[in-house]
Amino acid sequence: MQFEVLAKCHTTRARVSRMRLAHGVTMLPTFMPVATQAAIKGLTPQQVEALGINLILNNTYHLNLRPGIQVLKEAGGAHKFQGWTHNLLTDSGGFQLVSLSKFTKITEEGALFASPFDGSPTMLTPEESISIQHTIGADIIMQLDDVVSSLTVGPRVEEAMWRTIRWLDRCIEFHQSSGKDDVQNLFAIVQGGLDAELRDKCLDEMIARKDKVAGYAIGGLSGGEEKDVFWRVIKQCADKLPEDRPRYSMGIGFAEDLLVCVALGVDMADCVFPTRTARFGVALTFKGPLNLRLGKHATDMRPIEEGCPCPTCTSGMTRALLNHTATLETAAAHAITQHNLVFQARVMGGAREAIINGTFPQYLKDFFANYFGDVGYPEWCVSALRSVGVDLLEGRPESKTVSGDGAKWEYSDAA
Ligand SMILES: [Zn+2]
Repeated sequence: MQFEVLAKCHTTRARVSRMRLAHGVTMLPTFMPVATQAAIKGLTPQQVEALGINLILNNTYHLNLRPGIQVLKEAGGAHKFQGWTHNLLTDSGGFQLVSLSKFTKITEEGALFASPFDGSPTMLTPEESISIQHTIGADIIMQLDDVVSSLTVGPRVEEAMWRTIRWLDRCIEFHQSSGKDDVQNLFAIVQGGLDAELRDKCLDEMIARKDKVAGYAIGGLSGGEEKDVFWRVIKQCADKLPEDRPRYSMGIGFAEDLLVCVALGVDMADCVFPTRTARFGVALTFKGPLNLRLGKHATDMRPIEEGCPCPTCTSGMTRALLNHTATLETAAAHAITQHNLVFQARVMGGAREAIINGTFPQYLKDFFANYFGDVGYPEWCVSALRSVGVDLLEGRPESKTVSGDGAKWEYSDAA
């Protein structure tokens, strides 16, 4: 991997960088759509490519179950299997194992789980996870980490943090001895829960291994913790992680979360949210999400968003049509999915452009004013951005703030 920081925001910690991988260049910050089963739900690889997207995520756990490693081996890796010629990242499989398997026991050796096929005990070790990811052949691969929910407290959090470091060492050793480390790039995952001291220890240990890892992910968040705690952990990690490595915040997808993370110094993020919510009829726009199933869109002959360059908006497809077909016709899911991925790409592309032009603080202010308008800014976003020198309320003393996650006006029952 070649990683080069090209521009830095003069106020916040945001930066623009160029990441060159075996399947091309990806400009950061970027949002990575999730293709769980080696396919972004509702879109062909050619459609994804036509949207300008050149880095997507596959789930190791799912690919390992179906089609299985043998098929991927025969196909010559996941790129060829899914007809994707651009960059690919795989997770380690640990997160799904813990969240989806009925029985998972973490031991020092690895994660012991019941096979979803016949219930027989199966072990996923750090070495096995890397080996599976080698067969998949993704450009960026993740270490196996000991995942605990962000709501877990007590000694388990510290145990998981230290084990994650020991497992990182095993992943590094296996990866380096495989000869694959010149084409596939291993990322470490910073753990430590919501505890600043544990995060700090984990950061120290993982930064000490900098020469052996290509990048860093911030894990163990987006599990239902308070947003005011979430951003502080992101900031702590992004502040300390080395300048010359990409920083990946896992499981972040709401536009406001993405922009706050970028301002705090994050380069990459992924989430199923934009594609999943599309299938429930919710389109993301710069004026906030639209729940196209609501009756008020039934006679609206406008596109989802004026000026949007996506195939849905430029083809003349109306909100009225999408209201008529959302959640009923697969074509509507495809159309809204395309729009939503272009929206995510425009939010991040706009951020990159503003960072390069020196106008990122204003970009943030304009985005929040348009997106939240009268419904009120999430308080945590205001606090987080203040911590990096941007006051969203400056010049807008009349603006409201709202506690919690912030307004979800048309997100309603769309999760
Ligand atoms: Zn559009």
